[in-house]
Amino acid sequence: MDFAFSAEQSGLRDSAAGFARENLNEDLPARDRQQSFSPHTWRRCAEFGIQGLPVPTRFGGKGADPLGTMAALEGLGYGCRDNGLCFALNAHLWGCVQPVLLFGDAGQQERFLPGLASGATIGALAMSEPEAGSDAYGIRTTARLQDGRYLLNGHKIFVTNGPVAGLVLVLATLDPAAGAKAITAFLVEKDAPGLVAGPPVEKMGLRTAAMGELKLENCAVPVENRLGREGAGLAVFGRAMEWERGFILASAVGAMQRQFEECRQHARSRRQFGQPIGAFQHVSGKLVDMHMRLEASRMFLYKVGWLKSQERSAILESAMAKLYVSEAWVQSSQDAMQIHGGRGYLTENEIERDLRDALASRIYSGTSEIQRRLIAQWMGLA
Ligand SMILES: Cc1cc2nc3c(=O)[nH]c(=O)nc-3n(C[C@H](O)[C@H](O)[C@H](O)COP(=O)(O)OP(=O)(O)OC[C@H]3O[C@@H](n4cnc5c(N)ncnc54)[C@H](O)[C@@H]3O)c2cc1C
Repeated sequence: MDFAFSAEQSGLRDSAAGFARENLNEDLPARDRQQSFSPHTWRRCAEFGIQGLPVPTRFGGKGADPLGTMAALEGLGYGCRDNGLCFALNAHLWGCVQPVLLFGDAGQQERFLPGLASGATIGALAMSEPEAGSDAYGIRTTARLQDGRYLLNGHKIFVTNGPVAGLVLVLATLDPAAGAKAITAFLVEKDAPGLVAGPPVEKMGLRTAAMGELKLENCAVPVENRLGREGAGLAVFGRAMEWERGFILASAVGAMQRQFEECRQHARSRRQFGQPIGAFQHVSGKLVDMHMRLEASRMFLYKVGWLKSQERSAILESAMAKLYVSEAWVQSSQDAMQIHGGRGYLTENEIERDLRDALASRIYSGTSEIQRRLIAQWMGLA
């Protein structure tokens, strides 16, 4: 057993943290208030290589292995206070880049990976619909082969990066009566006729990530943009979710490390009743719990990174990592607010934003209840 990152992996983590601290935090309270996605910080990340972390160097990516990618994303989250930007980057990586890496044929990889890796093309994934959220099998968006292209019709919601995406992985069914075996994945380019991207919607947290609806109205998609074979959509989606659930919260672990350090510093310097508040057991106990959650989160995530580095399955481990780390991030964000007292509640001190951002992690990529259901199924209980 080896608990250490290689020199290359920890180098990536540290350089990502330094880069993020220097370049990504400017004007964040204002951008959060305005709910604006920043093309500027997106480009900065692209220059560093975040958008192409797992992409082979021949396509212009960084060519990092899974643990290296995880280490870089953790460093990014540590240095970058903008959880919305981290989320947009993760949606791009796990919703679009990784499925193209896993399922794209040579032509699709040649066409799409260079733009995705350079950040010039923003990636997204569109599964959710008004009537299909947790129940992905229930999607109603249809795809019909006609005159050598597919015509897609439907309504997608909650699409992270949707308003700014250049390439969207869309799940649609070839036959709504046929259930899972008809679901198929398509790479839909932003200028596809019949694709209408709605404006960014307002949300509680992750406000610097743009999320919106997509309408597909006889949206014409060339046959060569089908990702995987007909009927393989749920396999594509399932593999994408295995990676996404295992990696999407690496940046959150970086954020939790920063949160813990700031809370510890505050507990040492803030004095009440003639002593630092950290000397009160009710406060130090919260810091102990934050630290333990952080360490346990790392173990869950690194196990996934290690399994994927060995090209092994991590379906169960990814579900457990997603469930544990999201709940841990929410709890630690609440503790951070409590340790900061009234200051924690004021927007200007940038403590409460983490709680708003963290709450979404219990919902996206499958809710906590759905992760529990998956784990229970694995135990033979559901
Ligand atoms: C910030 C954010 C980003 C997102 N980004 C994307 C994206 O990029 N692309 C995309 O396609 N979607 C995205 N989503 C949508 C997300 O995947 C769904 O919100 C999520 O899967 C839940 O679906 P729902 O909202 O329809 O809730 P529902 O499925 O209606 O669930 C409502 C409640 O019922 C519970 N529930 C449902 N079924 C069960 C069950 N079988 N057992 C126990 N409890 C159950 C749920 O856990 C939840 O608590 C995003 C959501 C958020 C909040």
